[in-house]
Amino acid sequence: MPQIGYLSEDRLQNIPKRHWAAHEFSFYLHDLIAHLASAAEQSGAGHIQIQLDTEKDVEALKAASNPIDFLSATGRTDEERRLMVNHICAALLPDMLHFIHAGLTALEKRKFTLAFACFRKPFTEGLPLIALLCADEENFFTKFKSDPVGFLDSGNFNRPTKRLAIEAAIAKCSDASFMSADLLHAYLFDFTNTSGFAGLFDKAMHLVTRNHNIKTEAYNLNLIFKDPRQNDIYDASYQGLSYVLLCIHLMQIELLKRMQFPADDYLKQLNIRAAGTYQALFLKGRSKIASSMNETLGELMKCPICHERVRLKKRTAPMFFVTENLECDQCGHVSQFPLAWLMSNNTDDEANRQKSD
Ligand SMILES: [Zn+2]
Repeated sequence: MPQIGYLSEDRLQNIPKRHWAAHEFSFYLHDLIAHLASAAEQSGAGHIQIQLDTEKDVEALKAASNPIDFLSATGRTDEERRLMVNHICAALLPDMLHFIHAGLTALEKRKFTLAFACFRKPFTEGLPLIALLCADEENFFTKFKSDPVGFLDSGNFNRPTKRLAIEAAIAKCSDASFMSADLLHAYLFDFTNTSGFAGLFDKAMHLVTRNHNIKTEAYNLNLIFKDPRQNDIYDASYQGLSYVLLCIHLMQIELLKRMQFPADDYLKQLNIRAAGTYQALFLKGRSKIASSMNETLGELMKCPICHERVRLKKRTAPMFFVTENLECDQCGHVSQFPLAWLMSNNTDDEANRQKSD
């Protein structure tokens, strides 16, 4: 798969060339999560409005140490829950992004131990916590308020409970066709999955491990003696990394929609562009989303150099979806294509058509 062109080549030099596009896609997904978190923050999506009806309310607000205490003291439970959930999302996602960014950057330097030590917290603690919020905000709120440690410590919020939380979250997401609790569990918590991260997370964190699937061999210390020139971790990891990041993003969108953030149009584009790139990079067989693009936008996809109609191929789809650059399958010329703009206008046309029906 050719380079997407999302990252500069000097950042990709240490990664095997066959994985450049997959690494760029992982970073693209990180950036999508970051941009959406920032857009939501700027739009004030997490803000709530409170009506102060009486002088007593005004005095209670002045006396409270913070707004959540005021809402609790005056029995505004729904608003208290909304504010708390919004507050957690606004703080947790940036924390997860810091670790994901550090992990992806470590992969650019062949620092495998550091990379998976960084991915461990957002993937096995952050993602399941977001899943809990998606699954049942009221239950989360009640337990988080009364006993956060008992609720979320590793003894109670363990691997089976996290799997259940992910399953319940997927059932609540408005567009969850991409997400599978079984697949996420296999990537994050199954020590027998050779393409999964559970073993890598533990080996990255501990010098010796006891679990029989990843038991440290004689005369060894986990990953300490790993030859940084080996490519096996790259070969096994990128599909899982992309899948987990896309699932985090889909759960983020679900939570933002509950904050009245207008994410429907964004979600439609994401389901084509990110899912289309994932399909082209990692799934066998022809790319259905690329074929559908050829049908819907094919009339507009003409090469400005050889003037032939360009057909989007599985090979050229990642660059097209991520950077909006279309490579001519006849002469190889790469030209810009206003994909987001056209998709946005198509969505508006569709919405207007539905309104007039
Ligand atoms: Zn051409």
